[in-house]
Amino acid sequence: MKTASEDLFNRARGVMPGGVSSPVRAIAPYPFYTARASGAVLTTIDGTDLIDCCLAYGPLILGHAFPPVQQAIADQLQDGWLYGTPSPHEVRLAEQVIRDHPSIEMVRFVSSGSEATMAAIRLARGYTGKSDIVKVEGGFHGAHDAVLVKAGSGATTLGVPDSAGVLSDLVRHTLQVPYNDLEALEALLSTHDDVAALIIEPVMGNIGPILPEKDYLREVRSITAAHDVLLIFDEVITGYRLGIGGAQVRYGVTPDLTTLGKIIGGGLPIGAFGGRSDIMQMVAPSGPVYQAGTFNGNPLSMTAGAATLAWLSANQEIYRRLDEETRAIEEAVMDSPAGSQGSFVRQGSIFKYFFRSSPPRNYIEAKQSDTNAFKKFWDRTLQSGIFLPPSQFETNFLSTAHTEQQIEAISAAYRSCRYE
Ligand code: PLP
Repeated sequence: MKTASEDLFNRARGVMPGGVSSPVRAIAPYPFYTARASGAVLTTIDGTDLIDCCLAYGPLILGHAFPPVQQAIADQLQDGWLYGTPSPHEVRLAEQVIRDHPSIEMVRFVSSGSEATMAAIRLARGYTGKSDIVKVEGGFHGAHDAVLVKAGSGATTLGVPDSAGVLSDLVRHTLQVPYNDLEALEALLSTHDDVAALIIEPVMGNIGPILPEKDYLREVRSITAAHDVLLIFDEVITGYRLGIGGAQVRYGVTPDLTTLGKIIGGGLPIGAFGGRSDIMQMVAPSGPVYQAGTFNGNPLSMTAGAATLAWLSANQEIYRRLDEETRAIEEAVMDSPAGSQGSFVRQGSIFKYFFRSSPPRNYIEAKQSDTNAFKKFWDRTLQSGIFLPPSQFETNFLSTAHTEQQIEAISAAYRSCRYE
Protein backbone atom coordinates (compact mmCIF):
# COMPACT_ATOMS: atom_id res chain seq x y z
CA MET A 1 0.00 0.00 0.00
CA LYS A 2 1.19 3.48 -0.83
CA THR A 3 2.13 5.82 1.98
CA ALA A 4 0.73 9.34 2.26
CA SER A 5 4.23 10.66 1.40
CA GLU A 6 4.39 8.59 -1.78
CA ASP A 7 0.94 9.83 -2.84
CA LEU A 8 1.91 13.43 -2.22
CA PHE A 9 5.17 13.06 -4.12
CA ASN A 10 3.31 11.64 -7.11
CA ARG A 11 1.07 14.73 -7.09
CA ALA A 12 4.06 17.03 -6.54
CA ARG A 13 5.93 15.60 -9.53
CA GLY A 14 3.14 16.80 -11.81
CA VAL A 15 3.24 20.37 -10.58
CA MET A 16 6.82 21.03 -9.40
CA PRO A 17 10.08 20.22 -11.21
CA GLY A 18 11.35 16.96 -9.72
CA GLY A 19 8.46 17.23 -7.23
CA VAL A 20 10.41 19.51 -4.88
CA SER A 21 11.21 23.12 -4.09
CA SER A 22 14.97 22.54 -3.78
CA PRO A 23 16.87 19.73 -5.56
CA VAL A 24 18.57 17.85 -2.71
CA ARG A 25 15.15 17.13 -1.16
CA ALA A 26 14.22 14.81 -4.04
CA ILE A 27 15.21 11.65 -2.17
CA ALA A 28 14.70 8.48 -4.25
CA PRO A 29 12.29 6.79 -4.62
CA TYR A 30 10.26 9.47 -2.84
CA PRO A 31 10.95 11.81 0.09
CA PHE A 32 9.04 11.71 3.35
CA TYR A 33 6.83 14.72 3.99
CA THR A 34 7.07 16.40 7.36
CA ALA A 35 3.92 17.19 9.31
CA ARG A 36 5.58 18.91 12.29
CA ALA A 37 8.85 19.26 14.10
CA SER A 38 9.86 19.89 17.67
CA GLY A 39 13.22 19.73 19.44
CA ALA A 40 15.39 17.28 17.49
CA VAL A 41 12.47 15.31 16.05
CA LEU A 42 10.71 15.49 12.71
CA THR A 43 7.30 13.80 12.54
CA THR A 44 6.33 12.66 9.07
CA ILE A 45 2.81 12.70 7.65
CA ASP A 46 3.03 8.89 7.77
CA GLY A 47 3.34 9.08 11.55
CA THR A 48 7.06 8.27 11.90
CA ASP A 49 9.30 10.16 14.31
CA LEU A 50 12.84 10.77 13.06
CA ILE A 51 15.83 12.15 14.95
CA ASP A 52 16.92 15.04 12.77
CA CYS A 53 20.64 15.50 11.96
CA CYS A 54 19.89 17.63 8.92
CA LEU A 55 18.21 20.48 10.80
CA ALA A 56 17.12 22.24 7.60
CA TYR A 57 20.77 22.19 6.43
CA GLY A 58 22.10 24.18 9.33
CA PRO A 59 19.97 27.04 10.62
CA LEU A 60 18.41 25.22 13.57
CA ILE A 61 21.27 25.05 16.06
CA LEU A 62 18.69 25.31 18.86
CA GLY A 63 16.47 22.63 17.33
CA HIS A 64 12.94 22.90 15.97
CA ALA A 65 10.39 25.24 17.55
CA PHE A 66 12.79 26.32 20.30
CA PRO A 67 10.49 28.02 22.85
CA PRO A 68 12.30 31.40 23.25
CA VAL A 69 12.48 31.82 19.45
CA GLN A 70 8.88 30.64 19.07
CA GLN A 71 7.81 33.21 21.67
CA ALA A 72 9.74 36.00 19.92
CA ILE A 73 8.04 35.15 16.61
CA ALA A 74 4.60 34.92 18.26
CA ASP A 75 5.09 38.29 19.96
CA GLN A 76 6.17 39.89 16.71
CA LEU A 77 3.13 38.48 14.88
CA GLN A 78 0.94 40.60 17.16
CA ASP A 79 2.66 43.70 15.79
CA GLY A 80 2.56 42.73 12.11
CA TRP A 81 5.18 40.91 10.06
CA LEU A 82 6.24 43.20 7.24
CA TYR A 83 6.49 46.97 7.29
CA GLY A 84 8.53 48.13 4.30
CA THR A 85 10.04 50.69 6.67
CA PRO A 86 12.97 50.40 9.05
CA SER A 87 12.18 48.73 12.36
CA PRO A 88 14.11 48.70 15.65
CA HIS A 89 14.75 44.95 15.29
CA GLU A 90 17.17 45.31 12.37
CA VAL A 91 19.30 47.79 14.33
CA ARG A 92 19.41 45.40 17.27
CA LEU A 93 20.45 42.45 15.10
CA ALA A 94 23.05 44.53 13.21
CA GLU A 95 24.60 45.65 16.49
CA GLN A 96 24.73 42.06 17.74
CA VAL A 97 26.35 40.72 14.53
CA ILE A 98 28.93 43.54 14.63
CA ARG A 99 29.68 42.94 18.32
CA ASP A 100 30.35 39.27 17.60
CA HIS A 101 32.55 39.75 14.49
CA PRO A 102 35.57 42.04 14.86
CA SER A 103 35.88 42.16 11.04
CA ILE A 104 32.35 43.51 10.53
CA GLU A 105 31.80 47.24 10.95
CA MET A 106 28.62 47.54 8.90
CA VAL A 107 26.08 45.01 7.68
CA ARG A 108 23.19 44.75 5.18
CA PHE A 109 20.42 42.21 5.75
CA VAL A 110 18.95 40.34 2.79
CA SER A 111 16.66 37.30 2.55
CA SER A 112 18.99 34.39 1.78
CA GLY A 113 22.59 33.30 1.78
CA SER A 114 22.51 33.30 -2.03
CA GLU A 115 21.55 36.95 -2.11
CA ALA A 116 24.27 37.73 0.41
CA THR A 117 27.06 36.17 -1.68
CA MET A 118 25.68 37.66 -4.90
CA ALA A 119 25.72 41.14 -3.36
CA ALA A 120 29.12 40.65 -1.71
CA ILE A 121 30.65 39.70 -5.08
CA ARG A 122 29.03 42.73 -6.77
CA LEU A 123 30.30 44.91 -3.95
CA ALA A 124 33.85 43.54 -4.27
CA ARG A 125 33.77 44.29 -7.99
CA GLY A 126 32.31 47.76 -7.42
CA TYR A 127 34.85 48.60 -4.74
CA THR A 128 37.96 47.33 -6.54
CA GLY A 129 36.92 48.10 -10.13
CA LYS A 130 38.16 44.59 -11.04
CA SER A 131 36.17 41.86 -12.84
CA ASP A 132 37.27 38.36 -11.86
CA ILE A 133 36.48 36.40 -8.74
CA VAL A 134 38.14 33.28 -7.42
CA LYS A 135 36.17 30.53 -5.73
CA VAL A 136 37.24 27.20 -4.30
CA GLU A 137 36.37 24.02 -6.23
CA GLY A 138 33.39 22.35 -4.55
CA GLY A 139 32.51 25.49 -2.59
CA PHE A 140 28.82 26.32 -2.61
CA HIS A 141 27.71 29.92 -2.27
CA GLY A 142 24.09 29.66 -3.37
CA ALA A 143 22.35 29.21 -6.68
CA HIS A 144 23.35 32.27 -8.71
CA ASP A 145 25.28 32.54 -11.93
CA ALA A 146 28.73 33.69 -10.79
CA VAL A 147 29.19 30.78 -8.38
CA LEU A 148 27.52 27.84 -10.16
CA VAL A 149 30.86 26.56 -11.38
CA LYS A 150 32.20 23.38 -9.78
CA ALA A 151 29.62 24.02 -7.08
CA GLY A 152 29.17 21.66 -4.12
CA SER A 153 25.98 20.74 -2.25
CA GLY A 154 23.01 19.51 -4.34
CA ALA A 155 24.79 20.60 -7.51
CA THR A 156 27.50 17.96 -6.96
CA THR A 157 25.08 15.37 -5.53
CA LEU A 158 22.96 15.56 -8.65
CA GLY A 159 25.91 15.74 -11.04
CA VAL A 160 25.35 19.32 -12.23
CA PRO A 161 28.18 21.30 -10.61
CA ASP A 162 28.15 23.58 -13.68
CA SER A 163 24.60 24.71 -14.32
CA ALA A 164 23.10 25.00 -17.80
CA GLY A 165 21.82 28.47 -18.58
CA VAL A 166 24.81 30.31 -17.14
CA LEU A 167 26.54 32.45 -19.76
CA SER A 168 30.06 31.33 -20.58
CA ASP A 169 30.92 35.02 -20.91
CA LEU A 170 30.08 35.40 -17.25
CA VAL A 171 31.75 32.29 -15.85
CA ARG A 172 35.02 33.06 -17.56
CA HIS A 173 35.27 35.66 -14.78
CA THR A 174 34.96 32.92 -12.14
CA LEU A 175 38.34 31.31 -11.54
CA GLN A 176 38.87 28.24 -9.36
CA VAL A 177 41.47 26.94 -6.96
CA PRO A 178 41.54 23.69 -4.96
CA TYR A 179 40.98 24.00 -1.20
CA ASN A 180 44.04 23.61 1.05
CA ASP A 181 46.38 24.48 -1.83
CA LEU A 182 48.30 27.70 -1.19
CA GLU A 183 50.62 27.22 -4.14
CA ALA A 184 47.69 27.09 -6.55
CA LEU A 185 46.27 30.30 -5.07
CA GLU A 186 49.59 32.09 -5.23
CA ALA A 187 50.16 30.93 -8.82
CA LEU A 188 46.69 32.05 -9.89
CA LEU A 189 46.89 35.47 -8.31
CA SER A 190 50.42 36.01 -9.65
CA THR A 191 49.21 35.51 -13.20
CA HIS A 192 45.82 37.28 -13.01
CA ASP A 193 45.74 40.95 -12.14
CA ASP A 194 42.01 41.57 -12.55
CA VAL A 195 40.80 39.62 -9.50
CA ALA A 196 38.39 41.52 -7.24
CA ALA A 197 37.93 38.88 -4.53
CA LEU A 198 38.41 35.35 -3.32
CA ILE A 199 35.20 33.89 -1.90
CA ILE A 200 35.74 30.88 0.34
CA GLU A 201 33.91 28.82 2.95
CA PRO A 202 36.61 28.89 5.66
CA VAL A 203 35.57 25.38 6.67
CA MET A 204 34.05 23.72 3.64
CA GLY A 205 30.51 22.63 4.41
CA ASN A 206 28.94 21.69 1.11
CA ILE A 207 31.05 18.76 0.04
CA GLY A 208 30.81 17.23 3.47
CA PRO A 209 32.90 19.12 5.97
CA ILE A 210 36.52 19.60 4.94
CA LEU A 211 38.77 21.27 7.49
CA PRO A 212 41.48 23.80 6.69
CA GLU A 213 45.01 22.53 7.21
CA LYS A 214 47.23 24.26 9.74
CA ASP A 215 47.76 27.95 8.88
CA TYR A 216 45.90 27.59 5.55
CA LEU A 217 43.41 30.37 6.32
CA ARG A 218 46.09 32.70 7.69
CA GLU A 219 48.16 32.18 4.55
CA VAL A 220 45.11 32.73 2.36
CA ARG A 221 44.71 36.06 4.16
CA SER A 222 48.35 37.05 3.52
CA ILE A 223 48.33 36.00 -0.13
CA THR A 224 45.10 37.83 -0.95
CA ALA A 225 46.30 40.95 0.86
CA ALA A 226 49.63 40.86 -0.98
CA HIS A 227 47.78 40.76 -4.31
CA ASP A 228 45.24 43.42 -3.36
CA VAL A 229 42.40 40.94 -3.59
CA LEU A 230 39.48 41.19 -1.18
CA LEU A 231 38.89 38.14 1.00
CA ILE A 232 35.24 37.16 1.42
CA PHE A 233 34.54 34.52 4.08
CA ASP A 234 31.26 32.80 3.30
CA GLU A 235 30.13 31.92 6.81
CA VAL A 236 26.54 31.08 5.90
CA ILE A 237 27.07 27.66 7.52
CA THR A 238 29.93 28.36 9.94
CA GLY A 239 28.56 31.64 11.36
CA TYR A 240 27.45 31.00 14.98
CA ARG A 241 27.83 27.26 14.20
CA LEU A 242 31.53 27.00 15.06
CA GLY A 243 31.10 29.47 17.92
CA ILE A 244 30.29 33.14 18.41
CA GLY A 245 32.14 34.93 15.62
CA GLY A 246 32.23 31.79 13.45
CA ALA A 247 35.34 30.46 11.72
CA GLN A 248 37.04 33.84 11.56
CA VAL A 249 37.19 34.13 15.34
CA ARG A 250 38.01 30.45 15.78
CA TYR A 251 40.96 30.67 13.37
CA GLY A 252 41.90 34.28 14.15
CA VAL A 253 41.71 35.46 10.55
CA THR A 254 40.19 38.78 9.46
CA PRO A 255 38.39 38.79 6.12
CA ASP A 256 37.42 42.01 4.33
CA LEU A 257 33.83 40.91 3.84
CA THR A 258 31.70 38.19 5.43
CA THR A 259 28.47 36.59 4.30
CA LEU A 260 26.08 35.12 6.85
CA GLY A 261 22.68 33.40 6.76
CA LYS A 262 21.02 30.32 8.28
CA ILE A 263 21.50 30.60 12.09
CA ILE A 264 21.33 34.41 12.18
CA GLY A 265 17.65 34.19 11.15
CA GLY A 266 16.75 31.64 13.82
CA GLY A 267 15.15 29.45 11.13
CA LEU A 268 13.41 32.21 9.19
CA PRO A 269 14.69 33.37 5.78
CA ILE A 270 17.75 35.58 6.04
CA GLY A 271 21.15 36.48 4.66
CA ALA A 272 23.61 39.23 5.47
CA PHE A 273 26.83 40.65 4.15
CA GLY A 274 29.11 42.91 6.09
CA GLY A 275 32.65 44.03 6.61
CA ARG A 276 34.94 47.01 6.65
CA SER A 277 32.99 50.24 6.62
CA ASP A 278 34.99 51.81 3.76
CA ILE A 279 33.83 48.90 1.59
CA MET A 280 30.28 48.74 2.96
CA GLN A 281 29.81 52.48 2.41
CA MET A 282 29.85 51.66 -1.31
CA VAL A 283 26.42 49.99 -0.91
CA ALA A 284 23.34 52.00 -1.98
CA PRO A 285 22.10 54.40 -0.77
CA SER A 286 25.51 55.37 0.71
CA GLY A 287 27.29 54.43 -2.50
CA PRO A 288 26.88 53.25 -6.11
CA VAL A 289 26.67 49.43 -5.64
CA TYR A 290 22.97 48.64 -5.83
CA GLN A 291 21.26 46.17 -3.54
CA ALA A 292 17.61 46.23 -2.45
CA GLY A 293 14.85 43.84 -1.38
CA THR A 294 11.19 43.86 -0.30
CA PHE A 295 11.94 41.43 2.52
CA ASN A 296 15.34 42.84 3.56
CA GLY A 297 15.44 43.27 7.32
CA ASN A 298 11.85 42.01 7.74
CA PRO A 299 10.82 42.17 11.38
CA LEU A 300 10.00 38.47 11.75
CA SER A 301 13.43 37.23 10.60
CA MET A 302 15.15 39.98 12.59
CA THR A 303 13.27 39.05 15.76
CA ALA A 304 13.82 35.31 15.40
CA GLY A 305 17.50 35.96 14.65
CA ALA A 306 17.98 38.33 17.57
CA ALA A 307 16.35 35.85 19.97
CA THR A 308 18.63 33.07 18.69
CA LEU A 309 21.84 35.08 18.89
CA ALA A 310 20.96 36.45 22.32
CA TRP A 311 20.39 32.92 23.59
CA LEU A 312 23.66 31.67 22.09
CA SER A 313 25.61 34.59 23.59
CA ALA A 314 24.18 33.89 27.02
CA ASN A 315 24.83 30.14 26.78
CA GLN A 316 28.20 29.84 25.08
CA GLU A 317 29.04 26.66 26.97
CA ILE A 318 26.78 24.82 24.52
CA TYR A 319 29.55 24.93 21.90
CA ARG A 320 31.78 22.80 24.10
CA ARG A 321 28.95 20.41 24.82
CA LEU A 322 28.11 20.00 21.14
CA ASP A 323 31.78 19.31 20.45
CA GLU A 324 31.81 16.54 23.07
CA GLU A 325 28.67 15.05 21.54
CA THR A 326 30.12 14.81 18.04
CA ARG A 327 33.28 13.33 19.60
CA ALA A 328 31.08 10.58 21.13
CA ILE A 329 29.66 9.88 17.67
CA GLU A 330 33.18 9.74 16.23
CA GLU A 331 34.15 7.18 18.87
CA ALA A 332 31.10 5.12 17.94
CA VAL A 333 32.16 5.13 14.29
CA MET A 334 35.66 4.06 15.23
CA ASP A 335 34.10 1.08 17.08
CA SER A 336 32.03 0.10 14.05
CA PRO A 337 32.88 -2.50 11.39
CA ALA A 338 33.50 0.44 9.04
CA GLY A 339 35.65 2.34 11.53
CA SER A 340 38.98 1.49 9.97
CA GLN A 341 37.78 1.67 6.36
CA GLY A 342 36.25 5.12 6.11
CA SER A 343 37.07 8.45 7.71
CA PHE A 344 35.29 10.74 10.11
CA VAL A 345 35.49 14.52 10.01
CA ARG A 346 34.03 16.79 12.64
CA GLN A 347 34.35 20.25 14.10
CA GLY A 348 32.05 21.47 16.84
CA SER A 349 28.53 20.40 15.89
CA ILE A 350 29.25 19.50 12.25
CA PHE A 351 30.29 15.97 11.35
CA LYS A 352 30.41 13.40 8.59
CA TYR A 353 31.52 9.86 7.91
CA PHE A 354 33.18 9.67 4.48
CA PHE A 355 33.20 6.37 2.63
CA ARG A 356 36.82 7.05 1.77
CA SER A 357 39.91 5.85 3.60
CA SER A 358 41.25 9.24 4.69
CA PRO A 359 39.57 12.59 5.32
CA PRO A 360 39.33 14.53 2.06
CA ARG A 361 41.53 17.62 1.67
CA ASN A 362 39.60 19.05 -1.25
CA TYR A 363 36.79 18.60 -3.79
CA ILE A 364 38.53 15.96 -5.91
CA GLU A 365 39.27 13.80 -2.89
CA ALA A 366 35.74 14.19 -1.49
CA LYS A 367 34.32 13.08 -4.82
CA GLN A 368 36.34 9.86 -4.58
CA SER A 369 34.00 8.76 -1.76
CA ASP A 370 31.92 5.66 -2.38
CA THR A 371 28.46 7.18 -2.83
CA ASN A 372 26.79 3.76 -3.27
CA ALA A 373 28.04 2.66 0.13
CA PHE A 374 26.85 6.00 1.54
CA LYS A 375 23.37 5.46 0.10
CA LYS A 376 23.09 1.98 1.68
CA PHE A 377 24.21 3.38 5.03
CA TRP A 378 21.80 6.30 4.70
CA ASP A 379 18.85 3.97 3.97
CA ARG A 380 19.66 1.80 7.00
CA THR A 381 20.04 4.85 9.21
CA LEU A 382 16.64 6.18 8.13
CA GLN A 383 15.09 2.77 8.86
CA SER A 384 16.53 3.02 12.36
CA GLY A 385 14.78 6.37 12.86
CA ILE A 386 17.54 8.87 12.10
CA PHE A 387 17.42 11.42 9.32
CA LEU A 388 20.86 12.35 7.98
CA PRO A 389 21.19 14.77 5.05
CA PRO A 390 20.65 12.53 2.03
CA SER A 391 24.05 12.99 0.39
CA GLN A 392 27.66 12.08 1.03
CA PHE A 393 28.33 15.72 0.16
CA GLU A 394 26.14 17.42 2.76
CA THR A 395 27.24 18.08 6.33
CA ASN A 396 25.45 16.52 9.32
CA PHE A 397 24.49 18.84 12.16
CA LEU A 398 23.70 18.52 15.84
CA SER A 399 21.58 20.92 17.86
CA THR A 400 21.29 21.82 21.51
CA ALA A 401 17.90 20.07 21.45
CA HIS A 402 19.38 16.59 20.91
CA THR A 403 19.01 14.69 24.17
CA GLU A 404 21.54 12.25 25.61
CA GLN A 405 19.26 9.42 24.56
CA GLN A 406 19.05 10.71 21.00
CA ILE A 407 22.85 11.11 20.79
CA GLU A 408 23.12 7.52 21.98
CA ALA A 409 20.67 6.42 19.26
CA ILE A 410 22.77 8.26 16.64
CA SER A 411 25.95 6.68 18.04
CA ALA A 412 24.29 3.25 17.94
CA ALA A 413 23.42 3.74 14.26
CA TYR A 414 27.04 4.65 13.54
CA ARG A 415 28.32 1.77 15.65
CA SER A 416 26.62 -0.62 13.24
CA CYS A 417 27.94 1.25 10.21
CA ARG A 418 29.16 -1.16 7.51
CA TYR A 419 31.18 -0.35 4.43
CA GLU A 420 29.53 -2.38 1.67
N1 PLP B 1 26.73 29.87 1.21
C1 PLP B 1 26.87 28.68 1.83
C2 PLP B 1 28.20 28.35 2.45
C3 PLP B 1 25.80 27.81 1.94
O1 PLP B 1 25.96 26.63 2.55
C4 PLP B 1 24.57 28.17 1.35
C5 PLP B 1 23.40 27.25 1.42
O2 PLP B 1 23.47 26.14 1.84
C6 PLP B 1 24.46 29.40 0.71
C7 PLP B 1 25.55 30.23 0.68
C8 PLP B 1 23.16 29.83 0.13
O3 PLP B 1 22.27 30.15 1.16
P1 PLP B 1 20.69 30.10 0.92
O4 PLP B 1 20.32 28.67 0.73
O5 PLP B 1 20.12 30.73 2.16
O6 PLP B 1 20.43 30.92 -0.31
